[in-house]
Amino acid sequence: MKAADIRATFLKFFESKGHAVVASSPVVPGDDPTLLFTNAGMNQFKDVFLGFDKRPYQRATTSQKCIRAGGKHNDLDNVGYTARHHTFFEMLGNFSFGDYFKKDAIAFAWELLTVHFKLPADKLWATVYAEDDEAYDIWLKDIGLPAERIVRIGDNKGGRYQSDNFWMMGDTGPCGPCSEIFYDHGPDVAGGPPGSAEQDGDRYIEIWNNVFMQFNRTEDGVMHKLPKPSVDTGMGLERLAAVLQHVHSNYEIDLFVALLAAAKKAVDEAGAGDCDKDSPSLKVIADHIRACSFTICDGVIPGNAGRGYVLRRIARRAIRHGYKLGARAPFFHKLVAALVEQMGEAYPELRAAEKRVTEVLLQEETGFFRTIANGMEILEAALAGGQGVDGDTAFKLHDTYGFPVDLTGDVCRERGVAVDEARFNELLEEQKTRARQAGKFKMAQGLSYEGVATAFHGYEHLVCETSRITALYVD
Ligand code: ATP
Ligand code: MG
Ligand code: MG
Ligand code: MG
Repeated sequence: MKAADIRATFLKFFESKGHAVVASSPVVPGDDPTLLFTNAGMNQFKDVFLGFDKRPYQRATTSQKCIRAGGKHNDLDNVGYTARHHTFFEMLGNFSFGDYFKKDAIAFAWELLTVHFKLPADKLWATVYAEDDEAYDIWLKDIGLPAERIVRIGDNKGGRYQSDNFWMMGDTGPCGPCSEIFYDHGPDVAGGPPGSAEQDGDRYIEIWNNVFMQFNRTEDGVMHKLPKPSVDTGMGLERLAAVLQHVHSNYEIDLFVALLAAAKKAVDEAGAGDCDKDSPSLKVIADHIRACSFTICDGVIPGNAGRGYVLRRIARRAIRHGYKLGARAPFFHKLVAALVEQMGEAYPELRAAEKRVTEVLLQEETGFFRTIANGMEILEAALAGGQGVDGDTAFKLHDTYGFPVDLTGDVCRERGVAVDEARFNELLEEQKTRARQAGKFKMAQGLSYEGVATAFHGYEHLVCETSRITALYVD
């Protein structure tokens, strides 16, 4: 079953159960300052859960574009290291706004997985929040899942509501205990069952989370009861596709096979010749083109703050991986066409934005390729000592060569060393203070205010010089 068919089957199933099929919201949340990027299907329904907004339906289903590269849910550092984490992914979800609750939610999930997708029941596990006897009993008695495969996961991270089975959108907002469904990829893959010390592998993969929304957490940490108990679920489309396509990694599903081939071709043509088709760097590139394209499509452009800086960090990380494989000229933008081929039908806005997305990425690449070689030389020299990268070097790389500190950290991690982020942050703060003071001084002198332009940022200038895009959203 192709990713596109899985998406359609999911939405149809919930439509047949009385759910309204609602379009994905943009990856940039419209009016939620607590959120950098959309990180779950429930985001667009936040106010409905809270009781501030009413919809003509009480049940909804979506396939939501999500980004987890910052904020509470940040998987950037997992990409390239696990078979199941992306910066951009699609979350399939069903929602009940004060309508059905645990019993129906679990029954729907089980029916869809075992009857419609025909997953073998003996490979499925469920976890519940430790104190949630109700959910435990539903799995045991209604569904008939053996007790050995129902795991209570408690308060293992300190604080009553910090456990893995208590889902929160962010530090504030709707939240509640959850029940997760895992699929066992079999003994060929490393990793232990949910709740065990060895869980963090790719054998037992969490495919679906059913959240029983019951609280609104406010800034003071207080949990207020929601007007009505509700349901919010999320299943990673790519993870389910891996299961249904009988592969053990998201990167082996149809959509990623196509993107990986396009990545290899682009990198090879940009100077690599014939790079290793199994390199983790290609996976990073294939992952990152999705996050970059969808964020640009939804109105973000690379910049030095906020969402624009997250986008820049992801793009430059991908470019550095291409450089590592041997690319010496812009290649990343070429992947947009392959992505549109794979996802343009499900997300027409991506197809419509193809030209703009390609141009924005080409511009970002052109800027970064001017400094990357010199920056890498400095970084390699620092790494030659075998002691990791000191904060002063990391700052110089950031300031003059346009290396975001997490990019430097990514290189360090490949070599098994670290970057001194504490010192880096100190230098960054000092620079900001200097820039602020310079601004004030000029104001006092009666001169025009030039703000941070008085501080030199090597790469900002490069990027500004080539900037021809003015009509887009800048944050
Ligand atoms: P994990 O523990 O594997 O990091 P999670 O518990 O953080 O997942 P949820 O917040 O419960 O994930 O999100 C719901 C579903 O979305 C997950 O069950 C999974 O299928 C999918 N998912 C979550 N994060 C990612 C990601 N970074 N890439 C791809 N799919 C993801
Ligand atoms: Mg996670
Ligand atoms: Mg989890
Ligand atoms: Mg989860």
